[in-house]
Amino acid sequence: MTATHPTRRGDGFAAADSPDTLGGAVRAFFRYPSPLILAAALLAALAYRLHLGALGAGDALAVTAPWLVWPLLEWTLHRYVLHLRPFTLLGLRVDLDFARKHRAHHREPWIPELIFLPPYLHLVAIPTLAALAFALLPTPGPAASVLTGLFSVALLYEWTHYIVHTRIQPRSRMARRIFRNHRMHHFRNENYWYSFTVPPIDRALGTGPDHGSVPRSETCRTLGVDDADHP
Ligand SMILES: [Zn+2]
Ligand SMILES: [Zn+2]
Repeated sequence: MTATHPTRRGDGFAAADSPDTLGGAVRAFFRYPSPLILAAALLAALAYRLHLGALGAGDALAVTAPWLVWPLLEWTLHRYVLHLRPFTLLGLRVDLDFARKHRAHHREPWIPELIFLPPYLHLVAIPTLAALAFALLPTPGPAASVLTGLFSVALLYEWTHYIVHTRIQPRSRMARRIFRNHRMHHFRNENYWYSFTVPPIDRALGTGPDHGSVPRSETCRTLGVDDADHP
């Protein structure tokens, strides 16, 4: 996939034609399937919840819960699933599709299509999670609220990961930290800085040391797997 090219700044992180304004980034973001699917799911869950009637304290709790869990969830999935190397099980080579796609993203970080979650994941996960929420929670209200919280934080994750791979320059201190954390993960050492949205999680879990104290890794691009042998 070579539709876009490394940035003119030569860091290979963002495409030279990627947005450099917030408005441009929003317009570009919603051209990709994953954000569109998540936004549709979010609007559907929110509309259904509002249709059910007045909101209460239970809804606030249900919306907030996924937001509280997400930072740890994304760190865990990034570290243990997306970076999982192929392994052999009962004589068969197992290479998870998520991990393969993430290696492609590390190899060519400037290609936007490789930044986003695969749409097929949403087509399986969204109905499954919706069925679980309505089955496990006592009434439809909290179920719709928890799904609203989940789809909104998933969309925020997609947005954050997308925007750090554009030419936008972060302004706030928090945004600068988020951008730097992910850049370090791509270019300094892929064994650190797993958080996409909440860098202090890396500090807390021992994967967010001072940048200068971590040696440069030779395998940031490949994650130590020679995909040329198994295209
Ligand atoms: Zn990335
Ligand atoms: Zn990674």
